[in-house]
Amino acid sequence: MFPAYEEFVRRANALRAEIAATCARAGRDPGTVELLAVTKTHPAAAADYAARYGLRAVGENRVQEGIEKRGQIAPASAQLRWELIGHLQSNKARLAVQHFDRVQSVDSEKLLLHLDRAAGELGKPLPILLQINAGHDPAKFGADPADARRLLETALARAHLRIDGLMTIAPLGATPAETAAHAERTFAALRMLRDELATRCGVPLRELSMGMTADLAPAIAAGSTMLRVGTALFGAR
Ligand SMILES: *Cc1c(COP(=O)(O)O)cnc(C)c1O
Repeated sequence: MFPAYEEFVRRANALRAEIAATCARAGRDPGTVELLAVTKTHPAAAADYAARYGLRAVGENRVQEGIEKRGQIAPASAQLRWELIGHLQSNKARLAVQHFDRVQSVDSEKLLLHLDRAAGELGKPLPILLQINAGHDPAKFGADPADARRLLETALARAHLRIDGLMTIAPLGATPAETAAHAERTFAALRMLRDELATRCGVPLRELSMGMTADLAPAIAAGSTMLRVGTALFGAR
């Protein structure tokens, strides 16, 4: 059930404490790990909660759902950034550029080109992340790691895109232990790929968007700069 604001605050406080403790174990400053509240399937009040609590950004999976919700939030939540984290079809690229502040799910050259063209036409440069299928999960979207360099070079050559970094989703395991093992392997792979691409292409790629409710700890250990969390804040979907 969707929580009352007081319950949301309890969960968010507990989550922040867990993030801080995990950062301490990893020798990291918690200020370098942003919390993205994933509001998909929840009412617009979820975004208002996030803003009121002091979070700066929310994540949505679907373009249309995000647009509707963004139109319903309270005036006090207007400063929230909206990030698209779900699969995007090229024919919705223009809508995504219009209504989102960043697209994390860019995983093909075709989509890149559509986004760049829309951003140019709308006069609104678009920050993006490249979504990489770093866990080689057939059930997940994301570019093959072997294609990442070509995708990055194509993106860097476009005038209206700003490439902030990489995003990934780890494969789900059959048991918590298996999920943890997949997460460790996937996040370490994304981190290594980022370091390699940053060196070879001479760009910082500062953002590593990885880690969700089930795999926060391995993500922080591997260098995540953005945790995308829905369930721990708003409950089961
Ligand atoms: C739904 C979703 C999340 C949040 O997952 P939780 O397990 O609810 O924390 C994070 N990232 C993406 C891409 C998602 O689709």
